[in-house]
Amino acid sequence: MTTTGESRTHEFKAEIKQLLDILIHSIYTSKDVFVRELISNAADALEKVRFKQAAGEDVFGKDQALAIRIETNKDERLLVISDSGIGMTEEEVETNIGTIAHSGATAFLEQLKKGSGDSEGKDADINLIGRFGVGFYSVFMAAEKVVLTSRSANQDSQAIVWTSDGAGSYTVETIEGNDIPRGTTIEIHLKEDDENFADEAEIKSVITRYSNFVPFPILVNEQRVNQTTALWREPARQITDEQYTEFYKLISHDYQDPMMRLHHSLDGALQYNALLFVPQSSPELMGFGEGEVSLQLYVQRVLIDGSNKDCLPNYLRFVKGVVESQDIPLNVSRETLQQNRVIHKIRDNLTRKLLDRFLDLAKNDPDEYKTFWKNFQRFLKEGYSDFANREKIQELYRFTTSRAADDDEIIGLADYVEHMPEGQSAIYYLSGPTREALDRDPRLELFRKNKVEVLYLYDAADEFVLSALGKYKEKDLVSAEHAKPGDLKFADSGSDSTEDKPEETSEKSEVQPVIDRFKEILGDRVIDVRVSERLVDSPACLVGDDNQLSSHMEKMMRMMNKSEELPQRVLEINANHALIQRLAKTIAANANGPFVETACEHLFEGCMLLDGYLTDPHELVARMNQVLTDAAGAKADG
Ligand code: ADP
Repeated sequence: MTTTGESRTHEFKAEIKQLLDILIHSIYTSKDVFVRELISNAADALEKVRFKQAAGEDVFGKDQALAIRIETNKDERLLVISDSGIGMTEEEVETNIGTIAHSGATAFLEQLKKGSGDSEGKDADINLIGRFGVGFYSVFMAAEKVVLTSRSANQDSQAIVWTSDGAGSYTVETIEGNDIPRGTTIEIHLKEDDENFADEAEIKSVITRYSNFVPFPILVNEQRVNQTTALWREPARQITDEQYTEFYKLISHDYQDPMMRLHHSLDGALQYNALLFVPQSSPELMGFGEGEVSLQLYVQRVLIDGSNKDCLPNYLRFVKGVVESQDIPLNVSRETLQQNRVIHKIRDNLTRKLLDRFLDLAKNDPDEYKTFWKNFQRFLKEGYSDFANREKIQELYRFTTSRAADDDEIIGLADYVEHMPEGQSAIYYLSGPTREALDRDPRLELFRKNKVEVLYLYDAADEFVLSALGKYKEKDLVSAEHAKPGDLKFADSGSDSTEDKPEETSEKSEVQPVIDRFKEILGDRVIDVRVSERLVDSPACLVGDDNQLSSHMEKMMRMMNKSEELPQRVLEINANHALIQRLAKTIAANANGPFVETACEHLFEGCMLLDGYLTDPHELVARMNQVLTDAAGAKADG
């Protein structure tokens, strides 16, 4: 081959250098990951040419067979991987594996740093490299030098050669002449310790392990090594678990086995084949933002979309797999795909099938379902707005409750209803930071006394979802803050409110002066001050007005609107509490004495504090100190 003689040297970007440094100098036991990554790049490149050709585009080298060829040469410690795929122009090489800053590199470096440091953790992490769009660089785990030659499918393209030892820079040269075929050839000059990758048997075994279902022929020294069956078109009974798992790993870049699968085909008015998997966890949950959707859409045997978002609703984006239909035209564009009626029907069917699958798991293997719920609840909660499937989705939700021994004990809404005593007509919930806080929340005192179960919500999304659902079957979903005390007195709720009356019972009228005085002091900081029917042990609490959001929702809204204003709520006081009764007496003796004001401010701020609204505790602490000082004085004097 003739080069132009002019070679251009470029530095890798800082984060790529850093990544290369780690890849070159760390010892990974699963180095063979790089073979998988390069083969997967080759397969993607082949898919792209196949697509162009199917769409009738004119490509360079149109008669070249679509295949991946691998050659090994032990004497020269050389492994060569070529494909007849889409190839790359010089610009594309620069963009894809060159100088352009790469956010995936930074994200992957962070992931590596988080790795446990032992060899197992590191291997698990290195396995993830493909997910970050930097898989190509993994070749430098085993290579001391890489020479990549590529010729783009563009008719007037020139071939280029990219060379690097991974140490910080690379060179690019243009090749003159027309004798380089379309595609990419990667010559890997192996490090001494890694010469095993130049061993034919070894490479074959790596390929059958990782890349058996790559949908193009892979030839090692001209011998075919992989199967290219489209697994999703095969009858399920002919496929082994191992084959499914292998296929899943190939399409998902996951190194773990899938948690669940759904292989489902329809052949009738609507034709499609689908092979779907639920992973064990989602990178999105590890904080990587909305990960790439791994749902491949094939139309008439051609992959038209490698990360399709139309065949499943967005909330099921953690599901990976392949969908193929003969009923969609090949020339469909991504934009028209969204409107395609066949796609809509497929989506409806697959959504129902998947939800049924989740429900089956919940029913037949509650422990496994718990794991599933813990991993994917965030997605399923987004599904609250899927009205067509609401009945199924609400059966999938799980919550811990006031009855549970700890937060690990979770139940569904159906279980809650089953626990309900006769006469209870609503399902109650309350949000709070922890079980400890909710176990002591004054607003739940009457619930505790009447032994009414309350769903404990810790996740901001929960309350949103429950209030959006509004009802579960016939039962209203009600925030405990908005519950009417009368609603909690059921025939056999286990409450014994008659025997259990506090010693000092008080007429409402006795504490009316306290209410009047509190209203004067608090002014428009509260909507109202009234006697509570829900408090048992605490002197006061804040609740929402009937048509107000609950305090938790309000906090969320405040956060979203960045509002500094404190919400107005209703202050309820416990007429049976000694403090309130004594305040009534104090007011009777001296209506305007300063102590009543101190007590009122303190009660109010205490409630704000419990509700999480108090931003500045200084005043509260100063006041408390003053009260203690006075009390200490009284004791010393007495
Ligand atoms: P990813 O494949 O996840 O994007 P890589 O680092 O493996 O990340 O590859 C970066 C890019 O380089 C690919 O997206 C592709 O555009 C290009 N590329 C890599 N290998 C090939 C190949 N064999 N043929 C054509 N393009 C390739």
